[in-house]
Amino acid sequence: MSKDEAQHIIIIGAGFGGLYAAKNLVKGGSRFNITIIDVRNFHLFQPLLYQVATAQLSPEDIAYPIRAIFGRHKNVTILKERVSSVDLSNKFVTVADGRLRYDKLIISVGVVPDYFGNDSWREYAPPLKNLEDALNIRKKILTVFEKAESAMLHRSDESPLNFVIIGGGPTGIELAGALAELSIHTLKNEFRRIAPERSKIYLLEAGKNILPGFPDKLIHAAEKSLEKLGITIKTNSRVTDIGANGVEITSNGSSEFIASKVVLWAAGVKTNFSNSVLAADDNVEFDRKGRVLINKDLTVANFKDAYVIGDFGSLPDAKGKPLPGTAPVAMQQGIFVARHIMGKTSARFRYFNKGSLAVIGRNAAVADFGSLQISGFFAWVLWAFVHIGYLIGHRNKFIIMVKWALNYFTRKPSARIILHVFHN
Ligand SMILES: Cc1cc2nc3c(=O)[nH]c(=O)nc-3n(C[C@H](O)[C@H](O)[C@H](O)COP(=O)(O)OP(=O)(O)OC[C@H]3O[C@@H](n4cnc5c(N)ncnc54)[C@H](O)[C@@H]3O)c2cc1C
Repeated sequence: MSKDEAQHIIIIGAGFGGLYAAKNLVKGGSRFNITIIDVRNFHLFQPLLYQVATAQLSPEDIAYPIRAIFGRHKNVTILKERVSSVDLSNKFVTVADGRLRYDKLIISVGVVPDYFGNDSWREYAPPLKNLEDALNIRKKILTVFEKAESAMLHRSDESPLNFVIIGGGPTGIELAGALAELSIHTLKNEFRRIAPERSKIYLLEAGKNILPGFPDKLIHAAEKSLEKLGITIKTNSRVTDIGANGVEITSNGSSEFIASKVVLWAAGVKTNFSNSVLAADDNVEFDRKGRVLINKDLTVANFKDAYVIGDFGSLPDAKGKPLPGTAPVAMQQGIFVARHIMGKTSARFRYFNKGSLAVIGRNAAVADFGSLQISGFFAWVLWAFVHIGYLIGHRNKFIIMVKWALNYFTRKPSARIILHVFHN
């Protein structure tokens, strides 16, 4: 490559890591030709997926077209493609229509739901990882209320609807809280034969407490808020089977069956881009979750021109524990890689932990900033501002603020739409 020739940088994945890398690389001007490859044509704000799944927001509120973000940057090319393999030794990636060579590569492909070897459970307990999942869950939740109302045409006794959420991390808690708001407040008085507010929501967690990693004080605050919403928390409860009619669990040595037509999976993630995609003879190493073990400068193995960032990478923190799979880690790594490529930063990535947040329905959240821990209404307001701040696009920020304000005062979000494909 001559000195004047622009370097070709390929970014795989326009999630938090890839997007922040690209947004910072464009600051380097025409020194770079950047190609962003993603299977989807939008950047997705995953932290608000649960609000689409529970009918509070519409899909386009939390998604932003990648082309719109980089429209005025002529040196950025977007390809809506799936990368099927990467050859680090020969510096090319393969998509459906052929190979693309790179000078620098940034891989930020994220993770996928993990059913811990029980993939057949997915049919009955859908995950929440992308927009399609959120719409699928929304349909499932709204449909079950409709079916219950219709079923009452032929019955006189109403059996309350059960919902089961598997996984007591932030996603499970957020889903449970929002589902409670939907059934207790939004749908109340809208049905004639059933009482949605009598629905039962179970939150199952295999570990000894919900919100693993949060301080005890905040765990107790979250438990209290969830219980106030009528949610039954079952910790130390391991799922042993999931079928069309419900979930079987073992809890402290005894087994139990919870009947439910809506079971949601928020329990684990794994990678799907590992050994099969990265060429075997590149000698890339993975941790036990399939994440790529990366160097301190976020490069891979001996390849100084290839970086792995975000959820797909595994980098230990100062205590030797892998950094968490969160948006701030991915964003900070994206910024670091861009600066590293531009020669503007040192050889070592340092994560600045700004804290963790989890929201529980309306008016309650927990926020852990290390020495400062808050819960309740103020944590909830903070949560709202942080999320608005990190959303991509002024339009989305504005629309979400307006919708949140309307939903807050009316408790009647408008995204309660069940979509079918009818051929009539
Ligand atoms: C429901 C949910 C709630 C969450 N809530 C929070 C929260 O409140 N706070 C927080 O900090 N974090 C949260 N997270 C985690 C956070 O979203 C992730 O840590 C973050 O998105 C990771 O960024 P990433 O760039 O590594 O991957 P992602 O953002 O997942 O992006 C990966 C991109 O790669 C693309 N891709 C994948 N494979 C290929 C391929 N083969 N070819 C081309 N493109 C490909 C995907 O389409 C996607 O656009 C949440 C996640 C979920 C699922």
